[in-house]
Amino acid sequence: MISLPKAMPGESLFSRYIRHLKLTGLCKDQYCIKQFGRPRLSIHPFITAGVRHAASEDPDKETLIFNTQTLGGLFCFFMPNQTEVIKQALLATDTATAIRACRLVNYTIQSGSNAKYCPLCANEDAFNFGFSYWHLEHQIPGVNCCSKHGVQLIQSLLPERPHIDGDFLPPVKKLSATSHPDELMFARSTVNFLNDLQYKPEGYKQDELIIRLAKAGYIGSGGRVRRRELISDLMGLTKSFSQPSRPMLPKHSEDFGYIRSIMKNGNAQHPFKYLLLEYLLSTRANVSSGNYVSKADSPDKDHKQLTETCIQLLNQSYSLAEVSRLTGKSRTFLKMLAAKENIQLNLSPKKITKSLINKVIRIAWMGFHRNAIASTFQISNGSVEQIISSVNGLVEHRKKCRFESKRRRYRAEILRALSGYVYISPSKEQIKKAHYAAFHWLYRNDKTWLNNHLPKPQKPKQNPRVDWRRRDQELAVKVQAILLNTQEKLSLKQLDDLLGAHGWLTRKLDKLPTTSSMIESLQNTRSKIAK
Ligand SMILES: [Zn+2]
Repeated sequence: MISLPKAMPGESLFSRYIRHLKLTGLCKDQYCIKQFGRPRLSIHPFITAGVRHAASEDPDKETLIFNTQTLGGLFCFFMPNQTEVIKQALLATDTATAIRACRLVNYTIQSGSNAKYCPLCANEDAFNFGFSYWHLEHQIPGVNCCSKHGVQLIQSLLPERPHIDGDFLPPVKKLSATSHPDELMFARSTVNFLNDLQYKPEGYKQDELIIRLAKAGYIGSGGRVRRRELISDLMGLTKSFSQPSRPMLPKHSEDFGYIRSIMKNGNAQHPFKYLLLEYLLSTRANVSSGNYVSKADSPDKDHKQLTETCIQLLNQSYSLAEVSRLTGKSRTFLKMLAAKENIQLNLSPKKITKSLINKVIRIAWMGFHRNAIASTFQISNGSVEQIISSVNGLVEHRKKCRFESKRRRYRAEILRALSGYVYISPSKEQIKKAHYAAFHWLYRNDKTWLNNHLPKPQKPKQNPRVDWRRRDQELAVKVQAILLNTQEKLSLKQLDDLLGAHGWLTRKLDKLPTTSSMIESLQNTRSKIAK
């Protein structure tokens, strides 16, 4: 069976399943049986189940796939009460439970019925890799703009259940329509949020929302939320958003239920609503002074205000990551802004000297992980990778090291299992079941060693259906009768024929000791009489 294709940059698990289906050449039902164990199921474009199976070759990848190839992490973050249910459903293949736990059916927008793509990304992917694929960040519900190209995402209706089809990949050479800058900024802040999600182990804290609202000036002197202002600002912020986001936006300027549902503790809403509120708070709030700038500003004025907030925060020595999170602006934008405004960034750049490069190369040849090298020398992972790739043959050498390391680890695991620490004389099937990843990796990459070390298949035990003792007793009586009633000397073959030609006397005499000694004694006696 062909293994799941490697994920392309930003590719969703859903997209990998489609490419896999195409590669295997199976029909959809057969594929679902092989991959998920049953023919009838739904494969969701972003709440994509079957993570554990996808990570079967490396269980460490479960979390990685869950966080970077599905939107399970996003829903878990904003629905902390449902985290375990969503996670377990996606690790297994329980799409229905995951959709229920994410409350997707509660929204008029049926996000599951469409997959979105950016026509420019599709063209670029086709040019770079030879095929287009579904990007996870484009599937964030409510986001309808490509954060990279600033063009509107195009919706494609999913094929009928199980919602995958070998040819269902984004079409190329489609025309693109530019999105409004507001929508682009929201898309970028959302994608940044998604990328940072794996570093936020704790779920969303609604209790802290009130503090942020107060900082942004949305809490009145009596401690009440200024709902009218908040709704008005949300509507102002999203007035240029395209149609598909509308069902998840406030319906009118007095849609206070919208705010109430977000504020109510334990009443988890769709992540889009929280993302929008967070975006509003991060862009409109002047965190340092608590002064709120009203929403009735034009987009240009908003941008100017936001830029000023960035400058103010950078001047107060906030880190780049922090300013980026608070304002939704990218690190590149902030670096450029700091350079323009002559603001000294708190970056403490490390100069990569010739001697440092040599040290990195020496350790890299030893096969240390790039994270370990980066933290040893206090430089970025990117710098380490750059140095490694500049040395001829080093990348290949490290690949080989990783391969050998994996082989040693998996071989040791199998040998430990064979030594009988769990099962006494374990069988091949038991080893395969209990050490799935190691077994399959070695089966693909080190088959001879595996076959030489696994227990030999045992011969099936024969069921002793014939009671030879009893048969011996019965035959002895019959043989005695025949010999006593015959004057001639009979051969074993003749005797066997008289008994029914079963071949017992000619082929199985060793199992018939009484009969055998009976024949011998009677034949000898007859010989003596004959003489
Ligand atoms: Zn794009």
